[in-house]
Amino acid sequence: MSNAGKTRPHTGQLEPSTLPLMAGMAPEVFMHAVEHAPVSISITDLQANILYVNRAFGSTTGYTSEEVLGKNESMLSNGTTPRLVYQAMWGRLAQQMPWSGVLVNRRKDNSLYLAELTVAPVINESGKTIYYLGMHRDCSTTHELEQRVNNQRQMIETVLNATPAAMVLIDHNNRIVLSNPSFRALASEIAPQQNLEQAITTLTNSLGDSFLELRRSGKAFSSREISFDLGGHSQHGYSCHGKSLQMEDEQAATFFAPPESRYDLLIINDITELRQRQQDSHMNALKALLAEEELLEGMRETFNGAIHRLQGPVNLIDAALRMLQRRLGAQAETDPVVLAMREAREAGLQALDSLNASIPQPPPEPKLPANINQLIREVITLATDRLLAQGIVIGWQPALHLPWVMGSESRLRSMLKQLIDNAIEAMSQRSISHRELYISTQVEKQVVRIAISDTGGGIPEELAFKVFEPFFSTKPPHKGCRGMGLPMVQEIVTEHAGTVFMDTSYRDGCRMIVELPFCATT
Ligand code: FAD
Repeated sequence: MSNAGKTRPHTGQLEPSTLPLMAGMAPEVFMHAVEHAPVSISITDLQANILYVNRAFGSTTGYTSEEVLGKNESMLSNGTTPRLVYQAMWGRLAQQMPWSGVLVNRRKDNSLYLAELTVAPVINESGKTIYYLGMHRDCSTTHELEQRVNNQRQMIETVLNATPAAMVLIDHNNRIVLSNPSFRALASEIAPQQNLEQAITTLTNSLGDSFLELRRSGKAFSSREISFDLGGHSQHGYSCHGKSLQMEDEQAATFFAPPESRYDLLIINDITELRQRQQDSHMNALKALLAEEELLEGMRETFNGAIHRLQGPVNLIDAALRMLQRRLGAQAETDPVVLAMREAREAGLQALDSLNASIPQPPPEPKLPANINQLIREVITLATDRLLAQGIVIGWQPALHLPWVMGSESRLRSMLKQLIDNAIEAMSQRSISHRELYISTQVEKQVVRIAISDTGGGIPEELAFKVFEPFFSTKPPHKGCRGMGLPMVQEIVTEHAGTVFMDTSYRDGCRMIVELPFCATT
C-alpha cells in the first residue's frame, strides 16, 4: 500500500506487516477487526480506485471483493447524487479533512440504497495523503422512518393549524408544549395583553374540578362547558375536552429509565353561536306556545263570559217560573205561560250545558320539577321589546339557589306572563313617568316566593281580594278588559297548591306575591 495513486492488482487483503503495532497487539488483530466490522469499509488510492473492501462491504453492495478491487468507487454511484455533493466531498479530501454525507448507491442487483458515507484521508508521517478510507452503511430504513415521522408531523401540524377548535398540550407545570393558531387566538381573547401561560391559568381555573381530576389521576373529561365575559356584555361559551397522554423522554441520559412524563391535551370549541341559535329557537318555540295559550285563554274567557251572561236570564226565568207555579197550583200544569217558561228555561239550561262542554281545556301536562328563575327569565326575554318600547327599567333579583317547584311548566309560565303583562300595562299609562318593574325570587320556609312589583297606578286596598274574582276589572269596560287575567293566575296557583295575593303594604304601585311550595329534593 505504500505506492499510493497507482492501480495494481489487489487480493482484497491488507498486508498485516504494513499495520502499526499498538499496545503490544498483533497487527492481525486490527486486520481481523476491520475485516469483520459491521460497517462497509473500503480503502482506495487517491483516484478512489478500490484497494481493499471488508466483508460488510460485500453484504451491503452485493459485490464480492474480486468484483470491485481495482474498480473506482464511482461504480456504486446511481448517477442521481448531485455533482455538488461529490465536489464537497473531494474538496474536503483535498484539504486532508474527512467528509460525511449521504449518497444514492446502486447495488449489484441494481437495487438502490442510501449510503451514509464517511470518507477520510489516510496521511503518512510526512503529512502526505496516501489512501482514502471510506466507511458507509445502508441508512435507507432510518431515512424512511425519518421521512415518515416528518410527513406525519407535517400532516398533524396541517390538521392542527386548520382545525377551528383551539388545541393546546401542556406539561405538568402548565407550560405549553404545543398549541394551534385557534388556541393562540382564544388566548388573546381570554387573557388580552397577557402571555399564553396566563391564558392557560385562566382556562384551567375555569375548568375547576374537571381539570384537577385530569391532572391528578389522568381522568379524561368531555363537553365541559365554561364561559368567559369578553367585554361589551358578550358572554362566550366554550365546550372543553381534556385528555392526558404519556410521552417518552427524548434525552439520552434517561434512555434506560425514562421518567414518567404526562401531558394534558385540552380541546376547546367555541359554542357561543350554537348556544345563541338554540336559545333563539327555544324562544321562538316559547313565543308560539304562549301565543297558542293566549288564544286558548281568550276563547275560555269568551265562553265563560257568554255563560256568565246567559246564567242571569236563565236564573230569572227559573225564579219567575217557581213563583208562578206556586201561585197557580194544579192549574200550572196546563197554563200556557208556565209551559212556555219551562221550555225557555230548558232551552237556556241546554245552551249553558253545551257552552260549558265547549270550553277549550288546556292540554294535559305532566307535573315535573320546574325552575321558576328560568321561567321568569324566559318571560322577561319575551317581553323585552315591550319593556324597551315603554321605557320600563327592569330589576331582576333571582335567588341564587332556588329549589324546584313541581308543576306544569307551561301553566306556570302563563301565570308569570300574566302578572308581568299586567305590570307592564299598568305602567304604560301616560301619567306614569317613573317606570320600573322589579322581580325577585326568594326561598321562604316551605315555599318559593315570587314578588312582582311595578310603579304603575296600583290597586286600591279595598279591592285586593275582589281583583281575583272573574269578570272584575278596575278598568272601564270599553278598554276591552274581560277581568279574567288574575282569576286565571289564581286558578293556576291553586292548581300548584300555592297562594297569590296583593301586598297591601306596597305603596309605589302594585306588588303581587306568589308563593309556591317546592319539592323536597333539588
Ligand atoms: P466524477 O466525480 O466526476 O469523477 C470522475 C473520476 O475522477 C472518478 O474516478 C473520481 O473518483 C475521480 N475524481 C473526481 N474528483 C476527484 C478529485 N478531486 N481527486 C481525485 N479524483 C477525483 N461515490 C459514490 O457514488 N458512492 C460511494 O459509495 C462512494 N464511495 C467513495 C469512497 C471513497 C473512499 C472515495 C474516495 C470516493 C467515493 N465515492 C463514492 C466518490 C466517487 O469516487 C466518485 O467521485 C463519484 O461516484 C462520482 O463519480 P462520477 O463517475 O460521477 O464522476
